[in-house]
Amino acid sequence: MTQKNKVDLLIIGAGPGGYVAAIRAAQLGMSVLCVEKRKTLGGTCLNIGCIPSKALLSSSHKYAEVKAQTPFADVGIEIGKLSLNLKQMMAAKEKVVTQLTKGIDFLFEKNKIIRKKGTARFLSAQEVAIEDEATTAEVWQARFILIATGSESTTLPGIKVDEKQIVSSTGALSLTKVPKKMVVVGGGYIGLEMGSVWQRLGSQVTVVEYMDRLVPQMDHELGAALQKALTKQGIHFQLSTKVTGITEKKDTVFVAIESADHKQDTLEADVVLMATGRKPFTEGLELEKIGVARNDKGFIVVNERYETSVSGIFAIGDVIPGPMLAHKAEEEGIAVVETLAGQKGHVNYDALPSVIYTHPEVASVGRSEEELKATEKAYKVGKFPFLANSRAKAVGETTGFVKVLADPLTDQVLGVHIIGADAGTLIGEAALALEFSASAEDIARTCHAHPTLNEALKEAALAVDGHAIHI
Ligand code: FAD
Ligand code: NAD
Repeated sequence: MTQKNKVDLLIIGAGPGGYVAAIRAAQLGMSVLCVEKRKTLGGTCLNIGCIPSKALLSSSHKYAEVKAQTPFADVGIEIGKLSLNLKQMMAAKEKVVTQLTKGIDFLFEKNKIIRKKGTARFLSAQEVAIEDEATTAEVWQARFILIATGSESTTLPGIKVDEKQIVSSTGALSLTKVPKKMVVVGGGYIGLEMGSVWQRLGSQVTVVEYMDRLVPQMDHELGAALQKALTKQGIHFQLSTKVTGITEKKDTVFVAIESADHKQDTLEADVVLMATGRKPFTEGLELEKIGVARNDKGFIVVNERYETSVSGIFAIGDVIPGPMLAHKAEEEGIAVVETLAGQKGHVNYDALPSVIYTHPEVASVGRSEEELKATEKAYKVGKFPFLANSRAKAVGETTGFVKVLADPLTDQVLGVHIIGADAGTLIGEAALALEFSASAEDIARTCHAHPTLNEALKEAALAVDGHAIHI
């Protein structure tokens, strides 16, 4: 029962961590209030992250395929004049965002979750003030408080993001014209996804990456294969290179770079995308006042129950350490409220997939070869190329491979790494295998429908013991 201005659980932030936790807590019988300072629910993910970027990745992919003509002409489809209506493409993206964020309003109403528009600030360990220009401030009390305030983009020292010429992912999702030249600083998730969008729409894109490889956190073979595929599409890469300064003169941005062997150069661009990572967002919460501890990088420190250094206050998602992924935030949201309800909430971080939605897509779950080598853990490798998969051949998507890593003694799957069309969907089966502690033989003996791309996973699992059928 909700007493006046008192609930069981008060959640700060309605991103995938906060809104999913709110729904699950309501299902478990708690009275729940969720505070969100944005007009719309869904957080970074729905408003300025996963969803708008995937909408643009999809429409720009369609445009690029038609522009290239080859995939169509090869199968007898001839296309006439092509033109780009960027305004309409952006409107279509916004429509998807609006539909999905409104969908969460509906879910909140259905689950009787109290939704407050405003910025939350701690008054004490059980009390939060909610402030918004449009309404008078309110004070709410709760038995438990969950911080799910997410993250924000970083930039480099001395470089100011104006979201016009020097943009973060947010600006890159809403450019009003296609830049002739775009420099992307950072060859991680955002740099490669948003770099792909604008390259497909006609920009000359150069990605400057500090490390000697792309997506350095993933299995190295994936980064190398992705670089090859994106280079073929026309993206230029400057690896082992750092940006030393950015200056603007009229409509041109000058990006000073220095390679690892100290060669200096300047790149010119109409737009520069800063994609050097994100940092936890806790501004304005006044955590110091109540003693919620953060680590040296600003992440809120939590124990295995996601409880902070202050009893009764919990935190999940991008604001705590770990990969900044929407599904990680969701799983943590569910785990924390199930634990509060007396159940055994748990997140299996060993089976947490990650996907880069370029074309081809890149997807991983479990340990990479580099991680296994670093811990001196023995492993067997089974690999299968999409070139030898009949469905990939039939649909003209033969780039990439599936790699299965398994324990040489027990055959247990340790990691699966995929680059190829629809890798993000294929990785689901691999995540399930890891979750169930499956062996490579378990995957290999599971009957897979024919002809499907998933058969490449079965074949890679068979290849672990050297008996793939189709190669
Ligand atoms: P957020 O989604 O950041 O939500 C936090 C919310 O808290 C925000 O809405 C904020 O307004 C609110 N808030 C903050 N402080 C207060 C306060 N004091 N009072 C009230 N409200 C407050 N991840 C994937 O898994 N897949 C993808 O494809 C993917 N694509 C991405 C693309 C881009 C361009 C970006 C930027 C990110 C992408 N991510 C993706 C990452 C994903 O968006 C985040 O991991 C996820 O949103 C984190 O969820 P969260 O709930 O922790 O925080
Ligand atoms: P990232 O950590 O993925 O990549 C940042 C890259 O920038 C790294 O490769 C790093 O080496 C490089 N870098 C850092 N400083 C540099 C410098 N001075 N010069 C050149 N390169 C530099 O971060 P991101 O791409 O900004 O994305 C932020 C987070 O958002 C990601 O970590 C991810 O968790 C999330 N995200 C996920 C998806 C997805 O799941 N598909 C998509 C977008 C964003």
